[in-house]
Amino acid sequence: MQESKTRLLILGTGGTIAGRAASRSQGVGYQAGEIGVEMLLDGLPELRSLARGELAMQQLAQVDSKDMSWSVWRGLLQACARALADPRIKGLVITHGTDTLEETAWLLQHVLAVHKPLVLTCAMRPATALLADGPQNLCDAVALAASGGRCGVWVVAASEVHAAQQVQKVHPYRLTALRSFEGGPHAVIEEGAVRWLVPAAESPPAQSLWPKDQAALDYLLSLDDLPWVEVLVSAALARPQALEALIQAGLRGLVLVGTGNATVHQALEPVLQRAREKGLRIRLATRCLEGLPVAQEQPGQAGAEGAELARQPWPQARIALMLELALEDFGRSTDSLHQPA
Ligand code: ASP
Repeated sequence: MQESKTRLLILGTGGTIAGRAASRSQGVGYQAGEIGVEMLLDGLPELRSLARGELAMQQLAQVDSKDMSWSVWRGLLQACARALADPRIKGLVITHGTDTLEETAWLLQHVLAVHKPLVLTCAMRPATALLADGPQNLCDAVALAASGGRCGVWVVAASEVHAAQQVQKVHPYRLTALRSFEGGPHAVIEEGAVRWLVPAAESPPAQSLWPKDQAALDYLLSLDDLPWVEVLVSAALARPQALEALIQAGLRGLVLVGTGNATVHQALEPVLQRAREKGLRIRLATRCLEGLPVAQEQPGQAGAEGAELARQPWPQARIALMLELALEDFGRSTDSLHQPA
């Protein structure tokens, strides 16, 4: 029997890359998530040679990523876990909206053991635009996934390759809307060839939070939602009422996007103190566009009294805290199984 060929799997989730506008010149106000992944691929016969093998595709969702839901993420986690376990599949490409791309990339990196290239790609202009950027981004993503190169979760856009733990959306309109936090891209794609700019040893390790056993993944996938974590920004004239209402409503985690070195308006301090005592988990981030907060007990840094500093930009820090809380719940649920009756 003939050996089945290796292949790439392309998973469609929607976004502007699959968007449709009323006219070719319309770059905003279009409908994201309209055109199926099959049709996107049909328009790009060159993908076959870039893939260096077979291409398989699956339409997982058709959403504007601003509306990303746990049910889409759950489907994506399941599909990626299956593809990672399938020895015939050598790489994965996910088409996705840019709005929450960094969150999805970070989720996948954190939960899955990604021992193949898993590449997310996107577009800033709808598929119907006169000079759409999606087709080139899709070609570049396929080239990276087929390169047999570095494993892990990567994001490809505007010829650049960003790591999941560093990618940020920094512009609402221009084509180069994504960038790597503190530093440049990890690689560039030129005419289908990947040129790495960062040596492999300095690429961020594919650290994942989630244990690699099936029971843990099954637990995560059985959840109806991830634990509730919100984001609050500290600013001039801050008032405590919004935070009080969130705590009252059962909030479990908070990413507090503080001023400067993660400092917090004094008007928020008393409610934060009470919330911490009641078990609210707090991660302190900074609203500065560059840099992570530096650990130091300082007046006004709520972290001085037990809140941890975020180690990622705030969108990734929020997902990390959700997963941490879910993992603790999983630990508690397995502990209860082992309790003597
Ligand atoms: N709203 C779109 C989305 O995130 C934006 C985009 O894809 O660029 O799905």
